[in-house]
Amino acid sequence: MVVVSGPSGVGKSSFVQELLGADLDLKYSVSATTRARRAHEKEGVDYFYLSREEFRRRVEAGEFVEWAEVHGELYGTLRSETERWLKARKNVLLDIDVQGGRAVRKVYPDGVFIFVLPPSLASLEERLRGRGTDSEERIRLRLENALREIALVGEYDYAVVNDDLKTAYRQVASIIAAETCRASRRLKSALG
Ligand code: ADP
Ligand code: 5GP
Repeated sequence: MVVVSGPSGVGKSSFVQELLGADLDLKYSVSATTRARRAHEKEGVDYFYLSREEFRRRVEAGEFVEWAEVHGELYGTLRSETERWLKARKNVLLDIDVQGGRAVRKVYPDGVFIFVLPPSLASLEERLRGRGTDSEERIRLRLENALREIALVGEYDYAVVNDDLKTAYRQVASIIAAETCRASRRLKSALG
C-alpha cells in the first residue's frame, strides 16, 4: 500500500500519472467523491462521482476503507478498489488527504506513506491558479488547508519536494523500489 498525500495543487495527480505509466507494478485505487468532475477527468478513472446521498448510503453499507470531508466535499477509499488489487498481489497507490492517511495506517500499518511538499507556498498558489479548475473561493480554502496539512508532514515516512516533476517522480520511484527490497517485506511476501 503506497499512500501519497500533500496539499491541493502540489502536483500529486501529475506524478501519480507518471508512476502509473512506469513499470512499477502499481495499481491506482480510484476514490469516490461528491465533488464535481473537472473537464479533463473521467468517471471510474480519476474518481467515481457520487451524489451526497449515494456517498452516505455507501458509508452506511461499509463500502469504504476510510472517508473524510476535504475542502468541503466528501472523498473515500473504496474497499472494492483496494481489495481487488491486494488480492492480485499488486502494490496499490492511494492519493488521499492526511485524515485518510492516518486511517489507512491503522488498517495497513506496513504501508509506505509519502508526503509531497511544494517548493514554496507561492509556487503552490501559482500552480492552483495555473490549473484553472477552481474558483477564487475554492483556491483560498485549499491554500488555508495547505498550511494545516503541511504541519503534519512528520506523520509520514518520506517527504518529497515537487520542484522538478521528473526529480520528484524519480525519488518516489526509488522509495518504492527500496521498500520493495526491505528484507522484512520480502520475507513476509515469501511466507504469505
Ligand atoms: P494535485 O493533484 O496535488 O492537486 P495537480 O497534479 O493537479 O495537483 O497539479 C497542480 C498544477 O501544477 C497542474 O497544473 C500541474 O500541471 C502543475 N504541476 C505539477 N507538478 C509541477 C511541477 N513540478 N512544476 C510546475 N508545475 C507543476
Ligand atoms: P482533488 O479534489 O484536488 O482531486 O482532491 C482534494 C483532496 O482530496 C486531495 O488532498 C486528495 O488527496 C484527497 N482525496 C482524494 N481521494 C481521497 C480519498 O479517497 N480519501 C481521502 N481521505 N482523501 C482523498
